[in-house]
Amino acid sequence: MKQNSIQKIRGTNDILPADYGYWLKIKNTFEAVMQNGGFKYIEPPILEYKELFIRSVGENTDIVNKEIFGASRLDSTDEIKYALRPEFTAGIARSFIENGMSSWALPVQLYYWGPSFRYDRPQAGRYRQFYQGGFEIFGDDTAESDALSILVVYEMLEKLNLAEKVIFEINTLGDESDRSKIQKAYKEYFSEYKDKLCPDCQQRLDKNILRLLDCKEKNCQKIQERAPQLIDLLSQKSRDRFKFTLETLDELNICYSINPKLVRGLDYYTNFVFEIRDIEDDTRQSSLGGGGRYNNLVKELGGNPTSGIGFAFGVERYIEKMKQYKIKPDPIPAVKVYIIQIGNKAKKKSLNIIYKLHQFGIPAAPVMGGRDSLKSQLKYVDKMNAPIAVIIGQKEAIDGTAIIRNMKDGVQEIVDFEELILKLKDILNL
Ligand code: AMP
Repeated sequence: MKQNSIQKIRGTNDILPADYGYWLKIKNTFEAVMQNGGFKYIEPPILEYKELFIRSVGENTDIVNKEIFGASRLDSTDEIKYALRPEFTAGIARSFIENGMSSWALPVQLYYWGPSFRYDRPQAGRYRQFYQGGFEIFGDDTAESDALSILVVYEMLEKLNLAEKVIFEINTLGDESDRSKIQKAYKEYFSEYKDKLCPDCQQRLDKNILRLLDCKEKNCQKIQERAPQLIDLLSQKSRDRFKFTLETLDELNICYSINPKLVRGLDYYTNFVFEIRDIEDDTRQSSLGGGGRYNNLVKELGGNPTSGIGFAFGVERYIEKMKQYKIKPDPIPAVKVYIIQIGNKAKKKSLNIIYKLHQFGIPAAPVMGGRDSLKSQLKYVDKMNAPIAVIIGQKEAIDGTAIIRNMKDGVQEIVDFEELILKLKDILNL
């Protein structure tokens, strides 16, 4: 590489042709599960007002404090107003309100797919631009929809042959009425150890108390061990609700583990939360997706109070898992027929032949790159792994014929142009 060539930004990825089959398999599988389950596609813009994320994700979260990419005109000196989305839920909740979706038949079930941006410290599985797929269900505050959220994710994992490799970690944070009791109990408990907590947790004490439960610092983890259990602080109603979800999952035979420390990083979660983790990944660094209920979000963004639950997963992490577990990607349609042209007359005819082949659904392309000789063109077709070469030389171009060459065994057959399409369809089983 030349010294002055520009490289990609740290923490971003090119989706290269070799990886596209994995990417497509995940997308196709996810979309099929979503559409089967009655979810409709939504795509909010990548650019939103940064205020949207501050108001929804929460002022004291890692995302808002450290990870949002601001955006502005290159020469602007004004305060930055826009941000690249760090996640989809906020934008979709905004769209739900803006498009009056609360008057649609509820629940409104939406799914999405696209890039998100976070100014994270780049490392394996943690990127600054990454693809996310996910869904939201608005207007159904039942424990059944908590379980349904797990079911549709499970269906996707099963179809990707990953269901056996992962576990659902689940927890409940209780509803609004549990909040003050929970906050009081943890404030009392953790305040006693204030000096021993990491600086982040000292701040969380005042601003985001639940996050004290999932800090990964050693000292904080020791203190967490004797903290009151969240479930013990919940009302009977919240506990019954959680029990209903667990029993529905048992009915479905879906394996889960209750993780009482799972709180998820964002402010907007209430009640049911969950995360997917590779059973063999004890570091718990790279979750394969997470979600939860956010019953206050729509109201906080200025809409009619509407319950919500959602889930998001990182596509790059699934690609890595599929490779790790040797799960096959989707095949990408490849050119089946290359047209070898020798001489100017043939060259002039070949694009017209290709156009006709395309009209009949035969994937075909000319051999390009200024290759003139038969040998070099055949070598190219061989390299491309195409099963058939159609050779048109000077003589064939004049006679209105073509030579069909089977690239596997080298057997050749001369046919008239009129027969070519039918013959190729027959050979290729199209
Ligand atoms: P979160 O909203 O942080 O729970 O993110 C949902 C999912 O997106 C995670 O479980 C990951 O699979 C994926 N994800 C989050 N942040 C990143 C990142 N920086 N790079 C790649 N994937 C990510």
